[in-house]
Amino acid sequence: MMTSILSLASEAYPLIKTGGLADVVGAMPGALAPHGFRLTTMIPGYPEVLKALDSRQVVHRYDDLLGIEARLVAGTAYGLDLLVLESPELFSRGGSAYCDVTGRDWPDNWLRFGALGRAAADVALGKVSDLHPELLHAHDWQAAMAVAYLRYAGVAAIPSVVTIHNIAFPGRFPADVFPELGLPPEAFTIEGVEYYGGVGFLKAGLRAAAAITTVSPTYAEEIRKKAFGMGLEGLIAARRDHVFGIVNGIDTAIWNPATDPHLASVYDAGTLDRRKQNKRAVETAFGLAQGEGPVFCIISRLTTQKGMDVLASLADTLVAMGGRLALLGSGDAKLEASFAAAARRHPGRIGVRIGYDEALSHKLQGGADAILIPSRFEPCGLTQLYGLRYGCAPVATRTGGLADTIVDANEAALAAGVATGFLFDGVTADGLTHAIARAVAVYGNPTAWRLLQEQGMKADYSWNRSGKRYAELFRRLLKETHRSGR
Ligand code: ADP
Repeated sequence: MMTSILSLASEAYPLIKTGGLADVVGAMPGALAPHGFRLTTMIPGYPEVLKALDSRQVVHRYDDLLGIEARLVAGTAYGLDLLVLESPELFSRGGSAYCDVTGRDWPDNWLRFGALGRAAADVALGKVSDLHPELLHAHDWQAAMAVAYLRYAGVAAIPSVVTIHNIAFPGRFPADVFPELGLPPEAFTIEGVEYYGGVGFLKAGLRAAAAITTVSPTYAEEIRKKAFGMGLEGLIAARRDHVFGIVNGIDTAIWNPATDPHLASVYDAGTLDRRKQNKRAVETAFGLAQGEGPVFCIISRLTTQKGMDVLASLADTLVAMGGRLALLGSGDAKLEASFAAAARRHPGRIGVRIGYDEALSHKLQGGADAILIPSRFEPCGLTQLYGLRYGCAPVATRTGGLADTIVDANEAALAAGVATGFLFDGVTADGLTHAIARAVAVYGNPTAWRLLQEQGMKADYSWNRSGKRYAELFRRLLKETHRSGR
């Protein structure tokens, strides 16, 4: 008998994706199935989600879900078991999952994700569908309110886990939305959902969850501190015995250089020479002059979190050091303009593609020599894991999941043949320049570079390991619940 888990999130690859969260949510059902857990993924009914459903059955109709009409639809798509909260009023709009077309957060995000949380709590309580999950797994602030609704349901409820993919997004709203959320008045306290005078969705979930996980051990430590905790450090520190860091896995079927349909030439650790054709393809795609020097790539949201401001200021330096740069990303308009200007200054040396392009991201990992990830903080990071698997050496800040997954090519590590990338401390122009210089130097020694690539490709960042850790945690929580007689 499989144990039923309700996994609640605002995105799930390949249905809807704005970042790494989607990859993780989409991969978890497969990662946990071998451990006896059957995950039903509950997500909002965005048009692209509804369109993708292979089958659909309305299991519940709400006339008044926080004042909104909505339907709960059970279905499947891409092998995922889904529960979709269908409400055109909330989720069928232009713009993106969280923002309008101008990039501004939807002003009623509290209602959109409050309603999602309310409905998920109803599912968890066994009130609205045949599903009787034994545990609720809520991802990020958009899902966290479900845990608060369970807590205030007035009945013994199933245990819940909140996973923090990025604590910088707290889901904070003004206090005047509180009466609209349908929670009892006593919930508006510091022990409940109150957060700096407003309502904090993530905070509410973190307070109420049986366990909190985040996506790397280093980030789990970092968020206890003011510099990383974004105002939640006190809560995290107080609940430290219930906080666990589990590194994300990657989907090794989708991210496999030996079978990747997006690559001009597939390869593995034993046939790295075949990457050359992919490098040529990257040069062509980004208008770079053909050459033997290192091609650095960026696949990223263009934001200050990702250190893209510092990187933009170093474009000329990178070229002067003999590097070329292929950038795929979108985000901050100023940063987009700054990278576009750098490409105009350095034709043939810097190529920029503003936008989101899954296929092109695979091509870059399979053809560029190194990937730059100078994040100011990085809960886990996926692009370095893809880079490691594809022999595209990461050059990254020593923070969060980057610190946990990359072995820095210092002299000792190089000598021992265990290095997999380049780490530097603090996101400064000097620090990043030095790291790029080290990468260029090792690249100049083909034997050392190849060893570094091979080491990265050997590392196991599949879901095998991480799936096991989640399974252990879930089992323990279920046992504790049974023991306490709930
Ligand atoms: P975050 O979730 O903070 O954006 P991660 O590294 O965890 O960062 O995940 C980012 C995910 O989004 C990766 O799968 C990466 O390949 C993908 N990605 C980011 N920007 C782009 C882009 N412009 N085009 C295609 N994929 C992108």
